[in-house]
Amino acid sequence: MKYQSTRGEAPVLEFSDALLAGLAVDGGLYVPAEFPTMTVSDLRSMAEMSYSEVATRVLEPFVSPSIDANELGNMIEDSYSTFRHPDVVPVRQLPTEIGNDRYLAELYWGPTFSFKDVALQLLGRLFEYELTRRDTGVTIVGATSGDTGSAAIEACKDRTGIELIMLHPRGRVSDVQRQQMTTVKSANIHNVAIDGTFDDCQDLVKAMFSDLQFRERHKLAAVNSINWARVAAQTVYYFTTASRIAGPGQPMSFCVPTGNFGNILAGYIASRMGLPINRLIIASNHNDILTRTHSSGVMEIRDVEPSTSPAMDIQVSSNFERLLFDLSDKDSGWLVAAMNDFRSSGSMTLEKSVAARLQDLFDAGQASESEVEREIADLYLAKKEFLDPHTAVGVHVIREMKSLDGPAAVMATAHPAKFNNVVESATGVAPPQPSQIAGLMNEMERCVDLPNELSAVMDFVSAVSLS
Ligand SMILES: *Cc1c(COP(=O)(O)O)cnc(C)c1O
Repeated sequence: MKYQSTRGEAPVLEFSDALLAGLAVDGGLYVPAEFPTMTVSDLRSMAEMSYSEVATRVLEPFVSPSIDANELGNMIEDSYSTFRHPDVVPVRQLPTEIGNDRYLAELYWGPTFSFKDVALQLLGRLFEYELTRRDTGVTIVGATSGDTGSAAIEACKDRTGIELIMLHPRGRVSDVQRQQMTTVKSANIHNVAIDGTFDDCQDLVKAMFSDLQFRERHKLAAVNSINWARVAAQTVYYFTTASRIAGPGQPMSFCVPTGNFGNILAGYIASRMGLPINRLIIASNHNDILTRTHSSGVMEIRDVEPSTSPAMDIQVSSNFERLLFDLSDKDSGWLVAAMNDFRSSGSMTLEKSVAARLQDLFDAGQASESEVEREIADLYLAKKEFLDPHTAVGVHVIREMKSLDGPAAVMATAHPAKFNNVVESATGVAPPQPSQIAGLMNEMERCVDLPNELSAVMDFVSAVSLS
């Protein structure tokens, strides 16, 4: 398998090089040169397979020839043994008031209780494997507004060859989210609270990556959602969910609470690999750039309004570029011009054919804050079950799609206990806290405070990096 950049000007790489590179040198994102296909008998056999067996079958063609199937299988087994549910991604049915044949796929049973764990647990092991093989090390630098930080820390703690520095905006992540990061005791984990916003943190990280000398000297690496291995790892639960819900060869739909477009892009890849998918539904909160793009064919930036589903408060969905590349039949020339236009004017008009193909497979819908609250309250009243606010956006969107035929699953992206304040104010009841979250309060926290200044952050990175 070879990987090419969406912008068409970067070297073609094998899996392990694309893994370590993250962003391509031309500013594009790596995508496989072609999609492996699963045969009908592959799909049928998945109904009898464990999550890890399906993962090995689905991911093996993506990592070949960099990593052999046995090594991959071991890393996968190890990754998903950390999950707190034997099915890894269990499926349960939603009440019929929401719709017939409607399900939740619970992606949140990993170490930090968000769907980010599914990809990051494997990514941490892939990094360690490749760095050990090459006898080298990297300094992973990231910025987080919440879930990514703790999932990356859990995935990378105590791994050979990795120092991880995670920036978060001081006082602007929830207590649980902060404690999940700062109570990790491993020596290779470094939390930094920046006196600024999440955007300030992200700008600091970008500035360090654009300083090519600094980047080279400290072997900076990224585990953000543009890393292809994360998208690949997420394709797996589309296959397992379909094998649990749909009959052999029966198409089903997926409704995905969407921010950076990494999760739903994985669904698109699964469909390109031969999984029969009826509709892929983009669910947004009031920050609805993707819903508007879907209906008008024009992608236009607006200011982000904070919501109770912060992981979906986005202006630009970076993984959308991979979809545009594929829908335009890999027209890098058009894509580069369109992305430049978008950057300078804040708006991009999709080619007619691209907009039409977007509507062929995708639908889009949104939920307001009050609709999210009502959705959480309704499910509690009906079944004494809790939804986190991100998942509630998805449940609301599927409820509104009355004419959708066939089975459909909403991707449940966070455990309700992670957003207990929102859940409690909607239901009047605090969701039960798993002991791993409740126990955090009593743990010692480790974190360095730094000003929103590039030189101070660079000094810190220089001091902890391996070289
Ligand atoms: C990251 C995240 C999302 C958004 O996922 P994307 O892949 O960025 O679209 C949705 N919900 C939760 C809880 C998340 O952590």
